[in-house]
Amino acid sequence: MTRSKKTLLERLEANEVLVAEGYIFELERRGFLKAGPFVPEVVLKYPEVVQELHREFVRAGTDVVVACTYYGHRSKLRSIGIENALERLNVKALELAVEAAGETGALVAGNLCNTWEYDPSDLKTSEKNVRQIFREQVQWAKAGGADFIIAETFNYYGEALLSLEEIKKAGLPAVITFSPVAQSTCDGLSLAEACQRLQKDGAEVVGLNCGRGPKTMIPILEQIREAVDGHVAALPVPYRTNEQQPCFFDLRGDDGKNAFPVALDPFFLSRFEMADFAVTAKDMGINYIGICCGAGPHHVRAMAEALGRTVPASEYSPAINLHPVFGDQEDRRQHFVECLVGPG
Ligand SMILES: [Zn+2]
Repeated sequence: MTRSKKTLLERLEANEVLVAEGYIFELERRGFLKAGPFVPEVVLKYPEVVQELHREFVRAGTDVVVACTYYGHRSKLRSIGIENALERLNVKALELAVEAAGETGALVAGNLCNTWEYDPSDLKTSEKNVRQIFREQVQWAKAGGADFIIAETFNYYGEALLSLEEIKKAGLPAVITFSPVAQSTCDGLSLAEACQRLQKDGAEVVGLNCGRGPKTMIPILEQIREAVDGHVAALPVPYRTNEQQPCFFDLRGDDGKNAFPVALDPFFLSRFEMADFAVTAKDMGINYIGICCGAGPHHVRAMAEALGRTVPASEYSPAINLHPVFGDQEDRRQHFVECLVGPG
């Protein structure tokens, strides 16, 4: 494969990198993935749907096409009885990502995540299992043409470190992020300290993804930015978390029930709020900026434009001045304006 495109590190040295994640939630909303297990069987059953979403995110400005292998690891596939599809799913997911990226020069990321297998009370066995899960996924991603690997939504530093070690053995750059559900990892480190350690352990980018909306993620990002010398990642969810409900697991609907994961709509952030986050993150010195579960292409485009870019989807960016009622055109029909929104 001939690649003259810039590497992740070259891009990070030169500018910020914008990263659209959130495939699992979006594919669930579209009816191609089951909430609960959240296993991306869609890669094999409806590959054209995954491909279309890759294209939409690229068109909206993502610099990275993330292969759809989140929860596509051995443990998750085993849990729903399709372990025999493991290799095919990973190989196909890379193929789809490479194809979408190849049309545009975007980078391709392989994708690992927490396994739910890591167990500090049985490290000997669980580390072996977890390491094997990461190793095989990294190998498929590398063979499939990944430019780097994202390993994400960790709650244990120990598990994150295993992912980093396996990525480094394959000789690929690593982006490792924790899910800031709590203020510290489940093995008792502050998130800033856990990130600092991973950076010293050799991760090219460390930070946070998922779990929190911008408002409650930013204070932790400030600590990480302070503690870490290298590149920092920030990919919040586009939901309105708050001090009392800092994580999207905490959000409750009017009926008092958990809004996570499929009733989060009333908490959805607008494209403008995510655009503001992108600018805030950049101003903080964070240069790997993105969005996680809940992301739509409209968020990604607004974030890209707020960072000063014009992207293919900018062709259809809003022109509210042309709206018949809310616009400012001279030939606006005043009688509609007065009837629909009132005088003045
Ligand atoms: Zn997420």
